[in-house]
Amino acid sequence: MKDIYRLLKEHYGYDSFRPGQENIINAIIKGQDCLAVMPTGAGKSLCYQIPALFLPGTALVISPLVSLMHDQVMKLKEKGIPGAYINSTLTPRQTELALKRASEGRYKIVYAAPERLSSPDFLSFALKAELSLIAVDEAHCISQWGQDFRPDYLRIGEFISKLPKRPAAAAFTATATDKVREDIINYLSLRSPFEAATGFDRPNLYFALKSPADRIAAVCDCISRRSGESGIVYCNRRAEADRLAGILKSENIPAASYHAGLPDDERRRVQDGFIRGDIKVITATSAFGMGIDKPDVRFVIHFGMPRCLEDYYQQAGRAGRDNAAAYCLLLYDPADYYIHKTLISHMHEDDELTDSERRMKVEAAQLRLDQMNYYASSKTTCLRRRLVGYFGETTPYQCGNCSVCTGKDDPISSIRSGLDDTDRELCEKLRSYIRSAARLAGVPVYSVAGDEEMQRIAAEKPSDTESLRKIRGLSEMTIRRFGDGILSIVNEHVKIQNV
Ligand code: ADP
Ligand code: MG
Repeated sequence: MKDIYRLLKEHYGYDSFRPGQENIINAIIKGQDCLAVMPTGAGKSLCYQIPALFLPGTALVISPLVSLMHDQVMKLKEKGIPGAYINSTLTPRQTELALKRASEGRYKIVYAAPERLSSPDFLSFALKAELSLIAVDEAHCISQWGQDFRPDYLRIGEFISKLPKRPAAAAFTATATDKVREDIINYLSLRSPFEAATGFDRPNLYFALKSPADRIAAVCDCISRRSGESGIVYCNRRAEADRLAGILKSENIPAASYHAGLPDDERRRVQDGFIRGDIKVITATSAFGMGIDKPDVRFVIHFGMPRCLEDYYQQAGRAGRDNAAAYCLLLYDPADYYIHKTLISHMHEDDELTDSERRMKVEAAQLRLDQMNYYASSKTTCLRRRLVGYFGETTPYQCGNCSVCTGKDDPISSIRSGLDDTDRELCEKLRSYIRSAARLAGVPVYSVAGDEEMQRIAAEKPSDTESLRKIRGLSEMTIRRFGDGILSIVNEHVKIQNV
């Protein structure tokens, strides 16, 4: 007997399914239609490939990613799964050959681009073939409410309705709001589909919202509590990213900016430096992150609000890929909403769209922005619940790991354990000295020393400049300008304690 676990082991070498996969696979095998919403990387391909292996006949996979089809089919071959693809990159001769073999039932999986569905040759194959299932990948492309609408996708429903024996149809996407889900179900005419939204929750990420008067100070504070750790600060504008990188560097934080306005070699240098760990903090526009696989990003700060939750979640989700605790902070200024709103109202003005097409796109973008703003102004609803809920997945009412649930906008508290009462007293003294010294010098407090550093000083009580240098996170600048003052406070404190 064929067993989905055996197929998983035999063809993929895996022992267990990821969240959601098994239910979706079982539904398809039973012949039920499906709508599966799972984030990128969650493993959607396997959800149609295993049923394709299990069921007799050929599975048809419709995908807009023409340039990836060759790769996908090669990967199938490596797994011992016979497959082919039909798209515009094939010559007429190659297409003919692929369709001939497909008609002979030689493939378990055939990938096709949506525009192929109305070609007579393809249709004549599909009408005669024994199709085990139809998988529609990147199904959000069918909806004008989604971000990358493809008119070709609207042909899929009609194509399916022409099939003499309609197999189960399964739609897959990483992003689906209620409207997009509705469109997918309606345009594909899915019949009481099994709906699964899963894998969005990232329990190791702490989500926080904050509306500080001084956003730069908030960024510096956050980073000073995490000295030595890698993080990304997303900005809405290139100039912001550049300026922020300058400020961080002036505070001895190894930072660099990254955006599309920089030359290729500079971008590569910054990216490599970040991956290696020489550059700790990247201040970037949304241009940064695609295809960058750095597992130990410990924090992602949004200096401004992005235009939609899809962007926000994708960017914030670059934190904590290693599953260790990581921190995602969104600095919210209501002004961002109006800036985006204005930009959206001028969207696609130069594109060749009809008025109603443009209006539709503008309205869809506006709705996405409203949802983003709704999240960013959340005061009482668990942030994780709201975020993950947007993608269709439900979580408990309180996650206990976001700023709404805990009431703390940073889980790393300013006073960490390890300080006894007298240390804490010393820490207070240092804090008040640094506050006034910074004021006198005309520099911000955080640029002299963050809470973390002050706690380390209080705990370790350095007696001379050499031992002060060993305090992690303390800049040479601070040591040069304020080192003597700090040391005299520590020495004074130690003397009093010893008396
Ligand atoms: P998606 O289409 O959802 O973005 P993919 O189908 O491309 O994701 O899968 C992403 C990666 O996850 C692939 O390398 C795949 O082999 C791997 N993967 C999928 N399912 C499992 C599993 N059950 N166990 C381990 N790895 C898996
Ligand atoms: Mg995929």
